[in-house]
Amino acid sequence: MIPYGRQDITQADIDAVSDVLRSDFLTQGPQVPAFEAAICAATGAAHAVAVNSATSALHIACLALDLGPGDTLWTSPNTFVATANVGHLCGASVDFVDIDADTFNMCPKALEAKLEAAKRDGTLPKIIAPVHMCGQSCDMAAIGALATQYGVKVIEDASHAIGGRYGDRAVGACEHSDICVFSFHPVKIVTTAEGGAATTNDPALAARMERLRSHGITRDPALMTHEPDGAWYYQQIELGLNYRMTELQAALGVAQMQRLGAFVARRNDLADRYDALLADLPLQRPGRLPGVLSSFHLYVIRVAAARRRAVFDHLRDQGVLANVHYIPVHTQPYWQEHGFGPGDFPASEAYYAQAISIPLYAGLSEADQDFVTATLAEALK
Ligand SMILES: *Cc1c(COP(=O)(O)O)cnc(C)c1O
Repeated sequence: MIPYGRQDITQADIDAVSDVLRSDFLTQGPQVPAFEAAICAATGAAHAVAVNSATSALHIACLALDLGPGDTLWTSPNTFVATANVGHLCGASVDFVDIDADTFNMCPKALEAKLEAAKRDGTLPKIIAPVHMCGQSCDMAAIGALATQYGVKVIEDASHAIGGRYGDRAVGACEHSDICVFSFHPVKIVTTAEGGAATTNDPALAARMERLRSHGITRDPALMTHEPDGAWYYQQIELGLNYRMTELQAALGVAQMQRLGAFVARRNDLADRYDALLADLPLQRPGRLPGVLSSFHLYVIRVAAARRRAVFDHLRDQGVLANVHYIPVHTQPYWQEHGFGPGDFPASEAYYAQAISIPLYAGLSEADQDFVTATLAEALK
């Protein structure tokens, strides 16, 4: 069996986790700050807040930007459901901006048109959450400029994209956004089993997200309503959650982050190799944007919609566990109950009808990649 994605775990990772088990702290110790420092070092962001999933990071990012009832969040239909769900979890409305057919990312032209119309109607969103599909950054200069023009906040969903670059900055530097979110699920570039993080350059947003991940509690006397009663004292000053990452997860993250560059380089080598191996098959390979380094979380090919199911089934029958990313969120039953339906975002739907994610991960061998390619050629005959 060749999965579409899987973690890469070394003895150093195992030792790092074992060391934590023998230490004083299983949670709220030194590993979480060390992991956050590693994320700051890799991205160039001033602050990182590690949590128990990217979904949690998206949720506290929205809360920190004061998303609530009466507000609206816009994201891409071509994403995992979590990016949209967090809008509803904050009590806000959610809407979508269709994708660009070549990059599978939120289309800046569609965004501009929708913002213009929303301004006329008085329905501008509070937050837009572009998604860096497959690890390739959205056109953040264009999206950031529109956000500034219309007074909208930006959260990058970079769940796929740690280690990627946009221009001369790392994804996560927040050059054109308020907050950037990463996922450390095992299929992603770097893993902590479950885990996520939010980066920002705004110290107030970072402090608010740190508070929100731990019940809305502060130990900062400056934020309290009166002098602390003693060294034990804390105050809950707003409503928060328990979204903390454990020391075990953070230690694994610290060990994994040392290989971030190697992971992304290997994924890019394999993607280049797929580009060459697949060049003569009747399929579309992923488009690449100039000036962007994708971290290649996914390698998505497109085949004729009428043949997608058969090609997919053939791959699975041969032990190639391909997948499909993503079923357009607005076509999910939950979102159809909230007024959306097929036909609303045609580019995302057309993309979905053709898409197949074929195996790509740092530990994929060239022999296995050759088998995937041969199986795909057979399926397309
Ligand atoms: C994986 C993923 C998420 C959710 O990440 P978790 O860490 O599993 O919560 C959100 N958005 C996108 C685009 C993802 O790929």
